[in-house]
Amino acid sequence: MLVDSRARKFSYLRLSLTEACNFSCRYCLPSGYAPRDPGLPSELSESEVRNLLLGFEAAGFSKVRFTGGEPTLRKDLAGIIAFAASLPGFKFRALTTNGWDLKREAATYRLAGLQALNISVDSLDPGRFRMLTGRDRLNEVLDGIDQALSLHFDSIKLNAVLHREHARDELELFLNYVKTRPLTVRFIELMKTGKGGIYRDAHFLSSGEMRLELLRQGWRPIERTVSGGPALELSHPDFQGRIGLIAPHAEGFCSTCNRLRVSSTGALRLCLFGEGNHDLREFLQSPEKAGTIPEQLASLLKLKAPSHRLLEGETGNLGGFSEIGG
Ligand code: SAM
Ligand code: SF4
Repeated sequence: MLVDSRARKFSYLRLSLTEACNFSCRYCLPSGYAPRDPGLPSELSESEVRNLLLGFEAAGFSKVRFTGGEPTLRKDLAGIIAFAASLPGFKFRALTTNGWDLKREAATYRLAGLQALNISVDSLDPGRFRMLTGRDRLNEVLDGIDQALSLHFDSIKLNAVLHREHARDELELFLNYVKTRPLTVRFIELMKTGKGGIYRDAHFLSSGEMRLELLRQGWRPIERTVSGGPALELSHPDFQGRIGLIAPHAEGFCSTCNRLRVSSTGALRLCLFGEGNHDLREFLQSPEKAGTIPEQLASLLKLKAPSHRLLEGETGNLGGFSEIGG
């Protein structure tokens, strides 16, 4: 397994399959997706994605998350999931989606071998959902989540980006929602990106305030496991679901980092908030070339910084999360 100079072990690949998206979340793609300049590199083909998966499997990676943009816009997504599931190394296969088409497609993804689903739902109020995402689609997304629940995925998590002006109302709505649903709702602190700095400053709320409110209402933190991801999770005996808080601005957030990100054009990003990408595309042209990915990764990992520098106001060169998938 790949280990860096800080003894962090890397086993989790987050692969963006496209930059395209059909939503226009105000903090991510406020003006919607504009097709790429034809002169820029194209999205990875299905065979390049397969080679990438082979290369990362050879480097000891055991978990892959498909993200985007909106990964479900790719017609070959089910085939890609099935290929990952055919590799013995990738024991965990996950997808992050805005849920727009989940009702129709959840069973196909499950059958292909998908085990975990993260669905972004910023609001349970239809008007606010439309305002935040640019789409009047809350009911379809909620139907898709119920459909996914009926398919017994190993894990279903909802992601809601915290907005200070809505947090109190949303907490009440989501608590009501998880009373009878066995899933985790994770509130994510708004992060600054190149294009989203002003928005972030206007709407940011630290998850610490929500944590205090949850503790006041009888929620209790669950002990964190080493592989448990970056969220602080809380449970309550009267609720089937859980609440998670993701606080990338908190001290020590990067010390347990176990993930590497690859963009939809095949560029490795060592840190979400770092500078620069490292092009892997030439190694994706055949399974033989992909066999050299472990040594490429081992060498590039030496460049990984110990921590992001968000608290110093440095966000790196990421324009917005849709470029790499969060
Ligand atoms: N389109 C899919 C979705 O929305 O789930 C996958 C890609 S989206 C970029 C992945 C996650 O990043 C979403 O949960 C979204 O809310 C989150 N995200 C985007 N921009 C963010 C920001 N500036 N701060 C915090 N989370 C952000
Ligand atoms: Fe699209 Fe996801 Fe970004 Fe929303 S958060 S605009 S759904 S990529």
